[in-house]
Amino acid sequence: MLHDLRLSHGQHIFQLDTLLLSTSFILILEVKNIVGTLFFDTDFHQLIRTQDDQEEAFPDPHLQIRRQQQQLKMWLTKHKLPDIPIESLVVIGNSQSIVRTTSNRILPRVIRRESIPFKIKELEKNYRINRHSDKDIKRAIRLLKRMHTPQERSVLTQFQLTIEEIKRGVLCPRCNYLPLRRIPAMWHCLACNQKTRTAHIDALKDYSLLISETITSAEARAFFRDKR
Ligand SMILES: [Zn+2]
Repeated sequence: MLHDLRLSHGQHIFQLDTLLLSTSFILILEVKNIVGTLFFDTDFHQLIRTQDDQEEAFPDPHLQIRRQQQQLKMWLTKHKLPDIPIESLVVIGNSQSIVRTTSNRILPRVIRRESIPFKIKELEKNYRINRHSDKDIKRAIRLLKRMHTPQERSVLTQFQLTIEEIKRGVLCPRCNYLPLRRIPAMWHCLACNQKTRTAHIDALKDYSLLISETITSAEARAFFRDKR
């Protein structure tokens, strides 16, 4: 069983709450901890939560698990891992929540947390054939763990800082003086007289780690304190 996996496929990152792997099938569990009365609108593909007379719409978890299934399948193929059936379920994590649906249609993919063990038994009956060896599955697990990309927490949030509190300017690579002055095709340090052409590259790296991975030229000039 693997938890909170974040995998990248092309330019996209997809996230899996819980993944159960066996030699005969893989099960994705998408846990929803939404309190209140949950109405699954299967016609318009939305989940409407009612709590204290307030309605709130969420994206349909059915679409979400279907997408996760596809993404995981493509990911496994891309990494030349064994082709294995993938099942997925939406798990209602809060036992107090009331689940309703359009015209009392049954929702076979939505279950309560308490029924997970029974549902797994049922799936085991459907997938009796061991398609792969333990070794294959262990290899898949190793790769999934290795390719997991942890969520990068913003440094600003982590230290409760605002953008205004970040010192702007290009640092002198020799004496750390801030800010270097822009002269034609160069950066000049007023403290140690160092001249450099490339000091702004470190400033851009800092910007990308601290503030944003994209920058406009106006933002760059402001961050560099380039007052031309
Ligand atoms: Zn200097």
